[in-house]
Amino acid sequence: MFYLERLPCPVLVTDCSGLVLHTNLDFRTLVGPGDTSTMDRYFPPASRIFLQTHAWPLLFKNGEFSELYMQLLTADEARIPVMTNARISEIRGNRVVIWLFFVAKERQRFESELLQARQQAQDTAAQLTEVNGELMRAYAQLAAYTAEVKTEADQLAHLSNTDYLTGLGNRRALFLQVDRWIKSASDQDTGSLLLIDIDFFKQVNDSLGHAEGDRVLCDIASQLQKSARAQDTVVRYGGEEFIVWLPYSDRRGAELTAQRLHNQVAQAQASDQPITISLGLSTLKPQNQDTTRYLERLLSEADTALYEAKYRGRNRTICFDDL
Ligand code: GH3
Ligand code: MG
Ligand code: MG
Repeated sequence: MFYLERLPCPVLVTDCSGLVLHTNLDFRTLVGPGDTSTMDRYFPPASRIFLQTHAWPLLFKNGEFSELYMQLLTADEARIPVMTNARISEIRGNRVVIWLFFVAKERQRFESELLQARQQAQDTAAQLTEVNGELMRAYAQLAAYTAEVKTEADQLAHLSNTDYLTGLGNRRALFLQVDRWIKSASDQDTGSLLLIDIDFFKQVNDSLGHAEGDRVLCDIASQLQKSARAQDTVVRYGGEEFIVWLPYSDRRGAELTAQRLHNQVAQAQASDQPITISLGLSTLKPQNQDTTRYLERLLSEADTALYEAKYRGRNRTICFDDL
């Protein structure tokens, strides 16, 4: 019966009349020493009655039972609640009964620990669900915020390149366009720049008022835009000065555009006061210059040409190359 010693619970072995044949160490530790030959000694009266009326009949009927609640009686008369499993076996040709006891207190403790662990697992799962929800909300907020920032960044980028009054590009937009062109142009390519100044614009302001002057500026801005080619860039360079940048355009092409600008402005006269523009034209190859240098030269030449156009009576285009 050595294997009974290895079972991790108190074990009692009796014959089929309840005579004790063997107890394992766990059993002896639990109930204390006892040199009795009948198992009744290990049970208080109530459990003895239960054994007679219930446990033994069940055992004889089924050959086994499990989880019957009883009490064990220790050597010093203490009562220990146990769950009892029993089974009739045959050992060396003899029918014996093997009784296994599980101390109920321990079992209750295990059960309550199990319940506690389950509760904790449920609590943790609930917390995780909550945290997950918060993360999802935070993520959605972050996505919305990122979209907002991107929109704002786009708007700022647009604003930083746009003239607030006319909606045309500004000096920065001009620089970016020339920069883009110069990076892809070859030494043989030519770019042209038209510097435009409205003639006697001060008189427009003086006679019609500054607000009406602004409206005229917007009109002229849209007329210039209409006359330019798709690849050209029209910007408001300052007060009543505009620039049309013509990439891949030589003098001939730039003069044609200049003529279209004069015609367009002449046709679109709304007020009694005729408005004309003067233009200075510069046409240059990049010649390995960086954008800043190239643009400075274009502007300088166009400015000189514009001054000459004013000097010669206004409402005309002068090409720097002719000076
Ligand atoms: P010209 O160019 O033919 O020599 O004569 P001008 O009267 O146009 O002279 P100039 O170009 O020097 O004058 C610029 C005028 O444009 C002066 C200023 O009152 C007006 N101006 C500049 N910026 C604005 C603006 O944003 N709105 C309005 N309404 N007027 C402006
Ligand atoms: Mg001016
Ligand atoms: Mg002017």
